[in-house]
Amino acid sequence: MAGILQLCATPIGNLGDMSPRIIECLQNADLIAAEDTRNSLKLLNHFGIHTPMTSYHEHNKVEKAGVLIRQLREGKNIALITDAGTPAISDPGEVLVKMCADEGIEVTSLPGPCACITALTLSGLDTRRFVFEGFLSRDKKERREALNRLENETRTVIIYEAPHHLKGTLEDLKENLACGGSRKIALCRELTKKFEEVIRTTIESALAKYEDEEPKGEYVLVIEGRSEDDLKAEMTAKWENMSIEDHVKMYEDTGLDRKEAMKKAAKDRGVSKRDIYAALQKDMP
Ligand code: SAM
Repeated sequence: MAGILQLCATPIGNLGDMSPRIIECLQNADLIAAEDTRNSLKLLNHFGIHTPMTSYHEHNKVEKAGVLIRQLREGKNIALITDAGTPAISDPGEVLVKMCADEGIEVTSLPGPCACITALTLSGLDTRRFVFEGFLSRDKKERREALNRLENETRTVIIYEAPHHLKGTLEDLKENLACGGSRKIALCRELTKKFEEVIRTTIESALAKYEDEEPKGEYVLVIEGRSEDDLKAEMTAKWENMSIEDHVKMYEDTGLDRKEAMKKAAKDRGVSKRDIYAALQKDMP
């Protein structure tokens, strides 16, 4: 019988957050795959866990996933831990879980600390609808595309960031999000640690704060989504003077297919999709 891959969430800064169930799972696993074996050894020693460990990280994630899958097929139960928090969220665990899913290997998750959810709950912003972006890409083109997608996002946005990239990211957010400077932001740093801090401010004021202060520690940025009313008013002002063709194209340019774009245009104008279709046919050369 094949073994099970067990995703074990580990503390993001406070050892008291290690759950008894996860300690037991790590003790009983045949093997622990860890992102940073040296770091994890300290954690495992603290809890008296002496299970054999192997490394699974960003630079070996694809080949090593193959090795781990073979071991799972042979019946080994493997626990996966990453540097901190919930495996598979912005870390190489994602690749292993995908491969297990493709190969029909059972995966279970033992929940626990997760930086993005901890930050969201502390942000004081809307938590009902949110979007998690992980780290914004360092690749210029990918980053621009991500920022374009976020420009008019109405859900709360969560981003991971390293301290040395924080200022640059705040600048990009100010520049690229609609009403960027005045957007509310919660900068959640050193969560669950002694110097935990949640700075609730605006993107503009956050930039001013870090003008003469170096960001320190790990950050999660939680950003207020764009107001639905503002977005609607702006869209209405845009399409009111447009032809139906341009109105449909405006939505196509946001990534919608023609059918969806026609549906949106019809809704805006309070007419049926058939009316939009007929108008487009009439305008065709
Ligand atoms: N899988 C982890 C999780 O779900 O919590 C996240 C791993 S990701 C490689 C690391 C990022 O998580 C950091 O750069 C930071 O943005 C965020 N993070 C982790 N621990 C944190 C903490 N204690 N306080 C604030 N942010 C933290």
